[in-house]
Amino acid sequence: MNIPFLDLKKQYREYEKEILDRLPGFLADQKFILGEEVRLLEDEVAAVCGTDYGVGVSSGSDALIISLMALGIQRDDVVVTTPFTFFATAGAISRLGAVPLFCDIDPVTYNLSPERLDDLLTAEIEDHGNTRIKAVIPVHLYGQCCDMNDILTLTEKYGLSVIEDAAQAVGTEYATAEGIKQACGMGDCGILSFFPSKNLGAFGDGGMVLTNDGELADKLRLLRVHGSINKYFYETLGGNFRLDALQAMILRVKLKHLNGWIEGRMEKAAYYDRRFQESGLTNKGVQTPAAVFKGCGVTRHHTYHQYVISAPRRDELQAFLTDRGVASAIYYPLCLHQQKCFADLGYKTGDFPEAETAAGEVLALPIYGEMTEDQQEFIIGTIEEFYG
Ligand SMILES: *Cc1c(COP(=O)(O)O)cnc(C)c1O
Repeated sequence: MNIPFLDLKKQYREYEKEILDRLPGFLADQKFILGEEVRLLEDEVAAVCGTDYGVGVSSGSDALIISLMALGIQRDDVVVTTPFTFFATAGAISRLGAVPLFCDIDPVTYNLSPERLDDLLTAEIEDHGNTRIKAVIPVHLYGQCCDMNDILTLTEKYGLSVIEDAAQAVGTEYATAEGIKQACGMGDCGILSFFPSKNLGAFGDGGMVLTNDGELADKLRLLRVHGSINKYFYETLGGNFRLDALQAMILRVKLKHLNGWIEGRMEKAAYYDRRFQESGLTNKGVQTPAAVFKGCGVTRHHTYHQYVISAPRRDELQAFLTDRGVASAIYYPLCLHQQKCFADLGYKTGDFPEAETAAGEVLALPIYGEMTEDQQEFIIGTIEEFYG
């Protein structure tokens, strides 16, 4: 058996015809920069996320940078985030000359811990009078929302901006006091990545910033085109952060399938959950992903961008799976506070015990709607064999 980590070729067959039907018209138009396709995609994605505005940009990483810029984050400002995320979350902060301030995670969900955030903000702001803290970037890791109710209570208390990093969580729901919201619809803005392997992937790079704030949306659009309203007259320092019209056209086709793909992932996850239980693997120390908001009145409590187990002797298990033809991945093997490029921030190993423990135990298994039951059984069987 040979089970790829993700099978985009199989997925492509489902919508190939729709792309090929639209391509001649698109090419005949020769309109590649912003325009109608981008505008329509922005509206359609905003509708999916339950926000008023969407601003298409060049990548998820750029979506983070342009969001920080639009919120006025400047050199030496401090932005709080998790050390257990993809590099870009903290990289974006540093790229602007601002300073990432890391906060440990919840060991069950791997998301930013509201309790640790409370401790951190109390210590920094109330005890040390740190007035440089301006924003928080909660990351909805693997497809499950952070505990936004508790996080937003804290950010409101201290007057901090919130950028939701929803690169892995398009379409995930969360129950707030004001009703059910989608990832990206709870902070000042939220960002998506259209990197090909994400749940909604382009044929290259792309991203989007979503917001309910019309002024912020205007700023984002301005910054996206070098800060110019009238061509060759510049109001503010922006950059080229545009989403290609070609990617927008492709994403508009794929967006119509997103619901089905999310449902497929959730079904596969439920199957894994059940089989890990039945096989007794959960009694041998293997932990399946905790869907903590299941039953909170939302149907999409977790959209499983990744199905991540926590496994004893993780590296040996991964090698064993590789040997048997089962691909897997580690998101993420080294926390951000331990990365060489962030050495000047002055952190050391031991600073964020939960994040560091997670980095040593997590293993992402193949998950996509196109997987077969045979493939999932083979994976469970191989893991059973490993633990004897
Ligand atoms: C993928 C990802 C990004 C960056 O997205 P790109 O489109 O690859 O630049 C940012 N944050 C998280 C959590 C991601 O998973």
